[in-house]
Amino acid sequence: MANASEKPALKVLLCSPRGFCAGVVRAIESVERALAIYGAPVYVRHEIVHNRYVVDSLRAKGAIFVEELDEVPDTGAPVIFSAHGVPLAVPEDAARRNLFALNATCPLVTKVHREVEIHHRRGRQIVLIGHAGHPEVIGTMGQLPASAVTLIETVEDADNFTPRDANNLAYVTQTTLSVDDTAAIVGRLKARFPGIAGPHVKDICYATTNRQEAVKRVAPVVDAMIVVGSPNSSNTQRLKEVALHAGCARAALVQRAADIDWNEYKDIARLGITAGASAPEVLVEEILDAFAQHYAISVETVSAAEEGVFFPLPRPLRENQAAE
Ligand code: SF4
Repeated sequence: MANASEKPALKVLLCSPRGFCAGVVRAIESVERALAIYGAPVYVRHEIVHNRYVVDSLRAKGAIFVEELDEVPDTGAPVIFSAHGVPLAVPEDAARRNLFALNATCPLVTKVHREVEIHHRRGRQIVLIGHAGHPEVIGTMGQLPASAVTLIETVEDADNFTPRDANNLAYVTQTTLSVDDTAAIVGRLKARFPGIAGPHVKDICYATTNRQEAVKRVAPVVDAMIVVGSPNSSNTQRLKEVALHAGCARAALVQRAADIDWNEYKDIARLGITAGASAPEVLVEEILDAFAQHYAISVETVSAAEEGVFFPLPRPLRENQAAE
């Protein structure tokens, strides 16, 4: 290994905030608390958060991940629903089977579920802006009968959408979308349907918004951006897109240091690093350590917002905690 003086210099701009949000912390702690209180196994429907490292760590502690409830045997063990939320049919099914269900849905996703319920009760047709197939979208659409919610993914979809009654419409969004892309879609819907009802507080969550804002500051002034996180994480994918839109020539998702293609970083002088809301800080440190092996790095943090959000654990886990 070359000594430090022989390594090329690399300035690393570290985005802040990055990594875990309050909803992810709550979801992971829910599984850890359940394991501590009730012992293994604890069943988890879907990846608790979209990060392989987190899922593998919890699996090693006794969590069993399933995609659907019918993979869970009749058991007294806890069954935890992931941070992304679930269709109503899932807790109903769990109750029918007398399963001990714990809901780790992020409260900011639950807020969107309440919005669609209220719009539906008021007789409005609902447009959900989001990505088809994402578990949060499946969960939000699954709060209501199938025809009540129409999914829109693009500005073109907004142009082509034909409502049943143009004067009785509402929209909600997935929590982890691109702020700018969503503004364009909402703008088009409002231009076509001026009376469309929307959320009082934006549905795109604080964590998604702040992480994108930090990337917008860093991406234009670096040669490449690394977004630490998993490809199935929506907010992580959006960070990569935001970096490219903000003018960074290269942006890559990286799950672990071993995944880094060093040829991509041969000729850079400035590197931006961020992490999706489900990526633990230990993976950022692992990637920084890997760069320190190849470069004489100097690290500067670029901060776009301070975060102090905290969500309490689901009630049964809180009550057990208090009893200890
Ligand atoms: S990204 Fe936002 S909505 Fe998703 S878990 Fe985190 S805080 Fe909740």
